[in-house]
Amino acid sequence: MKIIPLSEGVFTIDKSKIFVPFDIHKDELQERARGSLLVEVQPFVVITQKDILLLDTGLGFMQQGEMQLHKNLKAQNINPDDVTKVLLSHLHKDHAGGVSYKDKLGHYHLSFKNAKYYVQKPGYDFAMSAGFPSFMTEELSILDGNEQVVFLNANEGFIDGYIHYKVTGAHSPHHQVFWIEEDGEKIFFGADDAPQIQQMKHRFVAKYDFDGKEAMELRRLWWQQGKEDNWTFLFYHDVKTPVAKNI
Ligand SMILES: [Zn+2]
Repeated sequence: MKIIPLSEGVFTIDKSKIFVPFDIHKDELQERARGSLLVEVQPFVVITQKDILLLDTGLGFMQQGEMQLHKNLKAQNINPDDVTKVLLSHLHKDHAGGVSYKDKLGHYHLSFKNAKYYVQKPGYDFAMSAGFPSFMTEELSILDGNEQVVFLNANEGFIDGYIHYKVTGAHSPHHQVFWIEEDGEKIFFGADDAPQIQQMKHRFVAKYDFDGKEAMELRRLWWQQGKEDNWTFLFYHDVKTPVAKNI
């Protein structure tokens, strides 16, 4: 399988939950609000024999009238229309901002017109009731009743026999993680349950998690299992190490 990280850049985020671009060469973290976290925002493409998979969809920012996500795909010689599946871990705005875009008339369209979107239904319902600032309900509501959307109701299962999903509910209620397995190779996408490599190596309860202790325990378990089973980990918020193994 081929893995392509699609970096949208580095940002700081604080209690306001607004993502502010951060230039690591010029900006000073101390000048941002106290408690600001420095994070990468980084969807992934995984190319398998059957699919062009997109794992989460980034912030959904537009650049000169075009989605940054589409530009980033094209820069990797991938036509956005060729994406076959969009796997969504959860619907926080830095992961699901790119599910749709707004045209000049103010109408929303799914960003990937030939893809199936895989979303936890209880997670969708939760997002729509919780709303701003964590969720952008206006961008998400297009998912409901859309024929391209597969609403998952089970806590665990398989997509097309080779993509394993499992709900953890750790970082946020109904958050799900994915294992993609082909030809003896196993890729693990833990999204915000396992956002950065440092959090795999050091025990750490994050204040921003829904169930921080559970997330910490899962990271410990996965890091160990991944070592034994040779997983390739994808780290959505890691500035330096988007892809790693535990060796
Ligand atoms: Zn999140």
